[in-house]
Amino acid sequence: MYKDDFPFFKNSGIVYLDNAATTQKPTTVIDASSDYYNNYCANTHRSSYGAANIATQKYENSRTSLKEFINAKNKEEIIFTKGVTEGINFIVNSYAKKFKTVIISSLEHHSNIVPWHMQGRSLHKGLEVVRCDDNLDFDYKHFEELLKENPESFVSITHISNAFGTLHDIKRISFLAHQYQSIVLIDAAQSLAHVSIDVQDIACDFFVMSSHKTFGPTGLGAIYIKKEHLKETKPYQTGGATIHKVTYNESSLLDSPYLFEAGTQNIAGVIAFKEALDYLRNLDFEKTTLEEKVLYEYLHQELKKIPDIILYNNTKNAMASKSFNIKNIVHDDLGILLDKMKIAVRVGHHCAQPIMKSLGIVGTIRVSLAFYNTKEDIDLFLKALKKAISMLKD
Ligand code: PMP
Repeated sequence: MYKDDFPFFKNSGIVYLDNAATTQKPTTVIDASSDYYNNYCANTHRSSYGAANIATQKYENSRTSLKEFINAKNKEEIIFTKGVTEGINFIVNSYAKKFKTVIISSLEHHSNIVPWHMQGRSLHKGLEVVRCDDNLDFDYKHFEELLKENPESFVSITHISNAFGTLHDIKRISFLAHQYQSIVLIDAAQSLAHVSIDVQDIACDFFVMSSHKTFGPTGLGAIYIKKEHLKETKPYQTGGATIHKVTYNESSLLDSPYLFEAGTQNIAGVIAFKEALDYLRNLDFEKTTLEEKVLYEYLHQELKKIPDIILYNNTKNAMASKSFNIKNIVHDDLGILLDKMKIAVRVGHHCAQPIMKSLGIVGTIRVSLAFYNTKEDIDLFLKALKKAISMLKD
């Protein structure tokens, strides 16, 4: 039923189960983007003629919409970026350099590992990793030990693992970190599309989001910076649109969010992202989250029945993404055969090589869901998977 709102499904005929990589876009998002280019394409925050004013107004409406969507207190706490990768790099370079220790989880995406390495940190040399148990669940006890040994740290943790779907209790993480005078960044790349968010309730300091994983345009994301940290956060790029006054001697910068949004932004993307948020707002989020959970459990139970399957975690603290392997079959081969049967799943390391290495594997087959997926999608996938396995085992 939801799929009728997404042209991709009608046009492609694909069973799309790769939502952790990117989500499909509803017609309203696509139309809002073309509307900008067709009818009022002008730069924002500069010119003062009609089309430019409309573009600026709509751009700022999106900021307000996102602020309300995550229940931020102030509009200046919302800064648009290219995506989560840029959001994390921004904070790594502009705020987090001064911290002696950075604490991450063992399930981080490369986007929350590589930027720390680029800053000269490595394991036990400015970078600590919280252990997970055999079910890939976050070890809160180990986290507290690390905090005790390293108070005043910078904690940077994913909300939901893109590789295995593990859900971290970010409110608990945030509470614990603050008990040890630490600062908390949450990577919400995989969660904004799946659970409702209240940044004030989570009490995190930074919250990094991706539009393209939340039914919005690609090349766009946003970061929430709690107001009290705005002064200490420096822009990591500057130029046009960020300044108050410039002479050949010096520049004075605008206040947030403008000093952080240098150059011409992804205007069409920002404007269209509001439509994605409106679409989600009009859904009964509690109902779709529950439906997705039921589907996730069904997928897990059906996968369990397949001979020689290797699953890495149960469904207790996990959602959205499910990873597995089949003994003695290379995951890439399964991916190729599934593609031929018009099933889109991702195979590989999912930009999470360290956890793959800990598990002694190079990658997995990953099925990742969104609210528009149905039991029929899962059944078609399972049928194709069983066929592919039998072809590869023969
Ligand atoms: N973090 C996680 C957990 C992700 O899943 C991804 C995307 N796969 C990223 C960061 C990077 O996000 P973006 O594509 O918005 O840069």
